[in-house]
Amino acid sequence: MRRCFRAVYCAVSFAVAFCAAAAGGAEPFRKVVIDPGHGGKDPGTIGHGLFEKSLTLDLALRLEKLLADEGFSVELTRREDRFVSLEDRAAVAKDADSVFVSLHFNAHPDRSIAGIETFYWPGSDAGRELAATVQGRLGGRLVTRNRGPRPQRLKVLELTPATGILIECGFLTNRWEAQRCAAPWYRQIVAEEILLGLLRYRESMK
Ligand SMILES: [Zn+2]
Repeated sequence: MRRCFRAVYCAVSFAVAFCAAAAGGAEPFRKVVIDPGHGGKDPGTIGHGLFEKSLTLDLALRLEKLLADEGFSVELTRREDRFVSLEDRAAVAKDADSVFVSLHFNAHPDRSIAGIETFYWPGSDAGRELAATVQGRLGGRLVTRNRGPRPQRLKVLELTPATGILIECGFLTNRWEAQRCAAPWYRQIVAEEILLGLLRYRESMK
């Protein structure tokens, strides 16, 4: 009897989960893992006197505060200047029903290149949707080139089972954009727009 009950319970659970997935309406996520790119011995991009690893951490702490104020559970993959492997970063975002946001600043040999872009794992429908929604916000209030949501085979996105994106928040090799990235107001607006993108994405899941 007990076995039967368990079988029925499992069947019902499966049906509910299947229907939710079929309707495209997964449970809205509650947890966000923020991943400040690079750190410690890995400075990331260095441009115009700026270290990518420092900017990503500052941005992550700003985003953490905004998300916590909205009631999200938030975890960072690092909160000081230390090296963390891609495997360890992905291991923090081990829950499939959480969202993983990796933060980076960009570089290009052509110093005229500027703009913001958001990557997702190719073939991930949820990742593409999340990237498009967040990039849609970032392309608004921040007047710079909108380089769009883009599929990219990035290892950290491959490793995490969470719905993941990697945001390149501006080119440190471009003098104009590096000056903006260096300014606290710029990083605050980036954090606010990422928050608004995440809220819009969560709303679309209901
Ligand atoms: Zn980077």
